Amino acid sequence: MTHYDYELFVIGAGSGGVRAARMAAGLGVRVAIAENRYLGGTCVNVGCVPKKLFVYASHFREDFNAATGFGWSGNSPEFDWSHLMAKKNQEIGRLQGVYESLLSNSGVTVIEEQASLVDAHTVRLGEQTVSCELILVATGGWPSIPDIPGKEFVVSSNEMFALEQLPKRIIVVGGGYIAVEFAGIMNGLGVETTLCYRGDKLLRGFDEDIRDFAAEEMGKKGINILLNTQINAIENNAEGLIAHTNQDQQKLEADLFLYATGRSPNTAGLGLQTLGVELHANGAIKVNEHYQTNIASVFALGDVTHRINLTPVATAEAMALVNELYSGKRTPVDYDNIPTAVFCQPNIGTVGLTEAEAKSRYTDIDIFKSTFTPMKHTLSGLDEKTMMKMIVRRSTDKVLGIHMVGPDAGEIIQGMAVAIRAGATKAVFDSTIGIHPTAAEEFVTMRNPVG
Ligand SMILES: Cc1cc2nc3c(=O)[nH]c(=O)nc-3n(C[C@H](O)[C@H](O)[C@H](O)COP(=O)(O)OP(=O)(O)OC[C@H]3O[C@@H](n4cnc5c(N)ncnc54)[C@H](O)[C@@H]3O)c2cc1C
Repeated sequence: MTHYDYELFVIGAGSGGVRAARMAAGLGVRVAIAENRYLGGTCVNVGCVPKKLFVYASHFREDFNAATGFGWSGNSPEFDWSHLMAKKNQEIGRLQGVYESLLSNSGVTVIEEQASLVDAHTVRLGEQTVSCELILVATGGWPSIPDIPGKEFVVSSNEMFALEQLPKRIIVVGGGYIAVEFAGIMNGLGVETTLCYRGDKLLRGFDEDIRDFAAEEMGKKGINILLNTQINAIENNAEGLIAHTNQDQQKLEADLFLYATGRSPNTAGLGLQTLGVELHANGAIKVNEHYQTNIASVFALGDVTHRINLTPVATAEAMALVNELYSGKRTPVDYDNIPTAVFCQPNIGTVGLTEAEAKSRYTDIDIFKSTFTPMKHTLSGLDEKTMMKMIVRRSTDKVLGIHMVGPDAGEIIQGMAVAIRAGATKAVFDSTIGIHPTAAEEFVTMRNPVG
């Protein structure tokens, strides 16, 4: 028995912190967790979960239109934003309750308080301090908005989950997945939507074909995409909000500006600098492969380390850390081949290397590609296409990357990720019997390389 109040003190009850606290407590460790805002963190409150609920809501308008092609008729139902918000809030409240009971049932002390580090074994909580053998910082990230005149008139993704009223016109600023997803949500809900990005292509880091194809499909659905466009200032006048851009004389008007221009590690006010915890230039906490900082008793994981900012990565890191600290097992996270989805319309799903990455590593790459109209849209009348792409190394026949734009791409690519991690070759894909009629069967029937 140590003389500390707690053996492990976790700061931040988000995806990573909750998993670490629960798991450690389950192993008999004395654990406390501090949370100053909302149990469940970003994912549950202002991230993955409410966003996906909004994505579902935004699909219906198109579905109602599509239904006419299958013989349905009648007036389209009306959409009520306040109803959606109330239902969303109810579900988030339920999930917060689930998190609370998961933590308390596993014996974790939950402290609703802002925490900061006093020294390597002491945490401050308001007026009180507690001693702890080890400290885990899992404080996540926070939206970062460029410092331009008029930034006080814009909102971040956080506020989108508390909007009282849908705007008539929105400008979404940014080119990453959060910007693209919100543009899809707003457009789907009938808001006149412009996506404004300073770069020349959306979704940096994704396969080039996917980036082009997704942008084209989003444009077809009515999103006005402005590239190479940087907003220099925003003014608020009688007509609404007006943005002045880098394009000559261009003025963009909207009722709401959403800035989805990146997230920064949430380290302010934690006392890290005073304690001498090393940070990267972007504010992320520096950790070694054991999630340990330069201060031996202080660990960090998840978005605050700003590496691969995804919920399943934060939870995997938490499990690896707790296994190593308290079970004596080393179960390192493999950061290769992490699958991910973008819930734009249609969805993007991706795992493994992009074509450019594969070609920069190997000279013997085959590309298989297929673009087609999904069966549903042969009758729906909607002009939407699906694209699938597979990247294979000729000499080993190994499938190195799989990418898709199309309905349920996230669901499909999750299965593909297992195959890729298992080292599946193209021959294994070719000998797998398809499920007919599906879009996914295309992945096992791609025969001729296109590049
Ligand atoms: C709009 C949006 C959509 C997203 N969609 C997806 C998705 O579809 N799929 C996916 O995998 N990921 C998604 N993410 C990313 C995902 O939410 C994060 O990767 C994940 O939440 C990171 O978990 P974490 O534990 O590192 O931090 P967080 O979940 O951010 O948790 C950190 C917690 O620490 C608390 N905290 C901070 N400072 C203190 C302090 N001093 N004292 C006490 N508590 C403190 C915060 O209030 C917060 O609750 C999305 C994120 C956003 C913003």
